[in-house]
Amino acid sequence: MSDYYNALGVSRTATPEEIKKAYRKNALKYHPDKNPGDASAEKKFKEISEAYEVLSDEKKKQIYDQYGADALRGGMGGGPGGMGGFSSTEEALRTFMNAFGGGGGSVFDSIFGFENGQSTAANQQGSSKKMNLTISFEEAISGTEKEASISNYVACETCDGSGAASPSAIKKCARCHGSGAIHQSRGFFSMSTTCSACGGQGKTISEPCKNCHGEGRLKKKQSIKIKVPAGVDNGMRLRMSGYGDAGHAGGPPGDLYVYINVEAHPVFQRDGDDVIVELPLSFTEAALGIKKDIPSPHGGSVRIEVPEGTQPDKVLRIRGKGAPNVHGQGMGDLLVRISVETPVRLSDKQKQLLQSFAALETDTNSPRKKNFFDKVKSFFKS
Ligand SMILES: [Zn+2]
Ligand SMILES: [Zn+2]
Repeated sequence: MSDYYNALGVSRTATPEEIKKAYRKNALKYHPDKNPGDASAEKKFKEISEAYEVLSDEKKKQIYDQYGADALRGGMGGGPGGMGGFSSTEEALRTFMNAFGGGGGSVFDSIFGFENGQSTAANQQGSSKKMNLTISFEEAISGTEKEASISNYVACETCDGSGAASPSAIKKCARCHGSGAIHQSRGFFSMSTTCSACGGQGKTISEPCKNCHGEGRLKKKQSIKIKVPAGVDNGMRLRMSGYGDAGHAGGPPGDLYVYINVEAHPVFQRDGDDVIVELPLSFTEAALGIKKDIPSPHGGSVRIEVPEGTQPDKVLRIRGKGAPNVHGQGMGDLLVRISVETPVRLSDKQKQLLQSFAALETDTNSPRKKNFFDKVKSFFKS
């Protein structure tokens, strides 16, 4: 289990200012908007936001210093998985917004605006794309490779993406002398704007490529292979770097985001890395105990021993038989939830036997029932 101080990279004696500074530095590095589709950055962002939420609050910090994170869990929305106290990225984003003044995007824009301003039209990145991919429950457990057809802009082969009919048709822009920017001075201030004559590319084309009409790229249908990692879950997003549109004028390509939709399974349900299966038992099986072969999410079956006297809704855990963790961190468990069926359509013979059984029943056979009626008794007395 990691430690809040470690998460922010500060010492236990850090001042509130140092804590805030450390959070800001880390938050800007791991912010989801700066790392789109990067699950590990998102997780890190949640971790540091949780750490800051606690360490920036004097009361929570005191409890944490004295008793550790578990003492705070209840009040923070809990959630399984150690440091995963922030169940949603939204909560973490709220912490971030609260820490750096006001809501809305304005603060955020001013924090990142500087860096955004650096990319010019000259090497514009291609657009990123989205697609949905539906896979079966079994494919999500084992991982799979799917073929998909996408229609993207790709660099024109005739002109190598330059957009010109020949290399000699590319001329240095006369207006900006090839820099792509126009510099203006007004008093003390010097301003730089994108050259409108060449769109910031620093060059003009006297004779455009006939194949792509000067665009430098063409729309093309492609067949791609999508590697879906084992353990992927419904609603997860895979990023395929560079599988978006080709960039303008040699700029980097965009990415392809694959949204995973996992079909429902008739027997199994996912709960994170754990898999839940309901096992219906007859009341004699639940009372006497039994060994059962139940289906495994990995195919085949797995044997489970139901102890005698097992109650409805009891969950039996089979370690390591759930879904693999998508980030390669071990395996989840198979959770077997017991349901007990009251027998119906009894024959005369069965009724007789149950009546003989009922005649022999004692309070110790049904401790919950006894407990309930004991409470009711004292209630009527008072
Ligand atoms: Zn120019
Ligand atoms: Zn071309």
